[in-house]
Amino acid sequence: MLARACGPVRGALRRQLHTVYQSVDLPETHQMLCQTCRDFAEKELFPIAAEIDKEHRFPAAQVKKMGGLGLLAMDVPEELGGAGLDYLAYAIAMEEISRGCASTGVIMSVNNSLYLGPIMKFGSKEQKQKWQCLGAAGGGALDSELCARRQWQRRGSRSHLRPGRGDSWVLNGTKAWITNCWDASATVVFASTDRSLRHKGISAFLVPMPTPGLSLGKKEDKLGIRASSTANLIFEDCRVPKDNLLGELGMGFKIAMQTLDMGRIGIASQALGIAQAALDCAVNYAENRKAFGAPITKLQGIQFKLADMALALESARLLTWRAAMLKDNKKPFTKEAAMAKLAASEAATAISHQAIQILGGMGYVTEMPAERHYRDARITEIYEGTSEIQRLVIAGHLLKSYRG
Ligand SMILES: Cc1cc2nc3c(=O)[nH]c(=O)nc-3n(C[C@H](O)[C@H](O)[C@H](O)COP(=O)(O)OP(=O)(O)OC[C@H]3O[C@@H](n4cnc5c(N)ncnc54)[C@H](O)[C@@H]3O)c2cc1C
Repeated sequence: MLARACGPVRGALRRQLHTVYQSVDLPETHQMLCQTCRDFAEKELFPIAAEIDKEHRFPAAQVKKMGGLGLLAMDVPEELGGAGLDYLAYAIAMEEISRGCASTGVIMSVNNSLYLGPIMKFGSKEQKQKWQCLGAAGGGALDSELCARRQWQRRGSRSHLRPGRGDSWVLNGTKAWITNCWDASATVVFASTDRSLRHKGISAFLVPMPTPGLSLGKKEDKLGIRASSTANLIFEDCRVPKDNLLGELGMGFKIAMQTLDMGRIGIASQALGIAQAALDCAVNYAENRKAFGAPITKLQGIQFKLADMALALESARLLTWRAAMLKDNKKPFTKEAAMAKLAASEAATAISHQAIQILGGMGYVTEMPAERHYRDARITEIYEGTSEIQRLVIAGHLLKSYRG
């Protein structure tokens, strides 16, 4: 019964959540999207989240349905097969999906922000069309949009490109930690084309998967988000046609930085979803758990915790939506995206920590989702730039603004 009580929000709690969204006057489209994603998460993701986490199983059927709903290509124009929505919509959808299952959240985020983001921003018309189609050719409508990957030039790695024979480059090296790579049908790869130019010698390439010369490492056995695959991409004389260059030669660093800005809004939203799920779980449990003849929500000590959790969550949500709206309005949003990601990820860690405390012993066992939220939350402070890096980004912008 307690496990059921920790399920998705229902009744009064569901109405309360609607109030949160309506209090900032979201456009009707966004409210409808939110409801659609919430219904999908409750019906399709929440019931399987614990199982796929335990089995490290990619939620193929669910991801396919998400492709059908347009959730894997949210700000891709409709004429290119996307949903044609904005980043605020993406942030809202990401939160709702991640609330149902954080692994599915990162699968969605990587496809939207890290893979399609740079293609839509820097790709030629032909590339936008071709790599959208290629995604679809990966084995059904969903797989197509599941071309979810990117490669980041890693300090100290041996990744490099050198001019190949004819019309191609040859890629060699290994990149660790590639999300979705066991399930993707293409990847965006960042690699050095001229080491002497340092960051100005990095370029971005589109690489189909599988492709000769590209192999995958073992799937990492992770603390959380275990239903998404993470592994090394290993390039051994992997030939990439010259047409697969994304943007101009040497533009890779710029593309990567702008991609990360977009990606951080996605990860902030993933963190919000995890935090919301942990808060839902804590409230539902505390309302049902009786101590000394009354629900523990009557205890002021529990109320203080819930108040702090709600405050951290709602503050982080506003920061995240602000970053998304700045992007939608074509204004600078690097600092704001870093703030959103920092606030939301630290909120997710703190809220999921307190949720376990509120559940007591039941928070510590897999019968309840609280322990999974705690494990899932942790990665949001690490990938797409650790919390330390977010602070560096924020401080850099802050100091620059003071110095004029
Ligand atoms: C599950 C998972 C999925 C991932 N998915 C992807 C992916 O899809 N694509 C991709 O490209 N990468 C991915 N990553 C990589 C991820 O982005 C990096 O792990 C992360 O950015 C941290 O880099 P690092 O592991 O090299 O840590 P390090 O850079 O070695 O950092 C170690 C510690 O030092 C701190 N530190 C480093 N530099 C500074 C500094 N200048 N000032 C203060 N502190 C500093 C860090 O904050 C951290 O605490 C993934 C990682 C994981 C674990």
